[in-house]
Amino acid sequence: MKTQEITETLIALPELPYSFKALEPYIDRETMEVHYKLHHGGYVSNLNKALNENNIHNKGLEEILKSISKYPKEIRNNAGGHYNHSLFWQTIGPDCGGDLTPYLMEAVDRSFNSLENFKREFEKSAMAIFGSGWAWIIVDENNMLKITSTHNQDNPLMDDVKPNGIPILGLDVWEHAYYLKYYNNKAEYVRNFWSIINWEKVDELYKEAVLSKYI
Ligand code: MN
Repeated sequence: MKTQEITETLIALPELPYSFKALEPYIDRETMEVHYKLHHGGYVSNLNKALNENNIHNKGLEEILKSISKYPKEIRNNAGGHYNHSLFWQTIGPDCGGDLTPYLMEAVDRSFNSLENFKREFEKSAMAIFGSGWAWIIVDENNMLKITSTHNQDNPLMDDVKPNGIPILGLDVWEHAYYLKYYNNKAEYVRNFWSIINWEKVDELYKEAVLSKYI
């Protein structure tokens, strides 16, 4: 290897906060291992490669995403892939699901009138994605929650994605996220998402998103 090819790793694959089999029976061990190591790992190494090739240094991931329209496609796809999966792993977990925190519940009532309506709208949004993409809960400029979706590895932080907002929960609906266990039964995968959501973490991200507007 030539010395100029040895560059520091700017972005690292974050540690998974639970074991590969921890989310069973909702997400199987094999899917988790392939998804985390090969897919997320691939976005991280391709992102580092693209940043080096484009001579981009000392930029934060969110800073890049917020002006993504100025960057080449390989940075868009891999920076999005890295951000989206990092958020995904944090907001799901074993012994999760269950009730929303009171603070989140209030926000859901304010934005969607009821929990049932919120869940129905979210599932509808996830099911409506044709091809690969993500369904999101975002915090908009008025601190209201909004359901949205994006294609590929785009996300609502990206400057040219509408509606824009701060994502606090995302569901990966790429086939690689569920196909080994669910095959074509995407609806069951989407319904089972409620059983693995870490609402404490989502609550924390919601509070951070609200506070970030005052800083
Ligand atoms: Mn994925």
